[in-house]
Amino acid sequence: MTEPTDPKPVLRTTALHKSFNQGKDPAVCGVTLSLAQGNILALVGESGCGKTTLVRLIAGLETPDSGSISVAGRSLTSPTAFVPPEERNIGMVFQDYALFPHLSVYDNVTYGCKHISRNALQSVLKLVGLGGYEARYPHQLSGGQQQRVALARALAPEPKLLILDEPFSNLDIALKLQLRNEIFEIINKLGITAIFVTHDTQDAIMIADDIAVLKNGKIVQQGSASQLYQHPNSLYVASLFGSVVPLSAEDMRLFGHDGKEGHHYAVRMEHFKTDTDGNHGNHQIRTQIDRSLFFGQHHLNSCTLPNGKRISFTSTTALHGEIALGFEKEAVLTFNPD
Ligand code: ATP
Repeated sequence: MTEPTDPKPVLRTTALHKSFNQGKDPAVCGVTLSLAQGNILALVGESGCGKTTLVRLIAGLETPDSGSISVAGRSLTSPTAFVPPEERNIGMVFQDYALFPHLSVYDNVTYGCKHISRNALQSVLKLVGLGGYEARYPHQLSGGQQQRVALARALAPEPKLLILDEPFSNLDIALKLQLRNEIFEIINKLGITAIFVTHDTQDAIMIADDIAVLKNGKIVQQGSASQLYQHPNSLYVASLFGSVVPLSAEDMRLFGHDGKEGHHYAVRMEHFKTDTDGNHGNHQIRTQIDRSLFFGQHHLNSCTLPNGKRISFTSTTALHGEIALGFEKEAVLTFNPD
């Protein structure tokens, strides 16, 4: 991912705006971004925040109210021009595969791209692990295989940009993890520039060079996975990248930390520290564990603070009885008022 000033981004959008409601409640609101050759950008955010609308605008499947889009230096959407989707040289892979059920794998992959040679087709099918499947029909393939066909179809015309919109949502978890790793190995190997829409921030963390978080159609924060995890600029972003406990200024002071009225604070559930057996260490709060549930890699504990607020936090061992509870200053996430 690059700053908008990068001389040669593959994708550049400027002040993109789209409303489906006569100018009100924009689905995409002033989105400016750029993406450098070979980089993968993940778009994440709550349902309805505008991820799909943004990629549909880039693909030419929607027309923006204003703003511009260029790919590989070519203007695709501007106040004076609109290049249709089939002429954009952008490959798309959707959640529901969108294969033609009555066409073979061969015909699905070559659909709309008749100039592709038999050799090129065979090598793209081999690349996605489907060598020898040319004559099969979609109903003769598993969900994972159908998604590989969709990827082969998107890759065959050698697109300048690949868009993947929730490509793993229909797959079970084991298959999803396998296919996710394979697909992104292929994308990296080919050096393809890609945008990846996902609900799953773990996917974004594993795969993307850069992550843009959307809310109400706007990019509210953009950066690497570690930047977003360590320095989220809002509770919204913090919560997308793990479970957090929101804390008020009063809560902060109970824990012996500075708390400024009007500011919002949070601590990740895994960053709480405890002492037991009468050893209270530096932790100011003494409380009883109400419940400690085993979740495989951690225990989820709940307790009540002296001001009556109930919180949950995780620990590596089961907790019970009275504990002293606290956290390091470095664990505190601080947000300005929204
Ligand atoms: P999800 O993660 O649930 O797929 P999303 O982040 O992709 O959501 P979009 O599908 O882009 O969100 O939708 C953004 C907003 O635009 C939503 O409020 C949605 O209802 C609205 N919207 C999207 N497409 C249309 C449409 N064709 N007509 C009217 N409203 C639409």
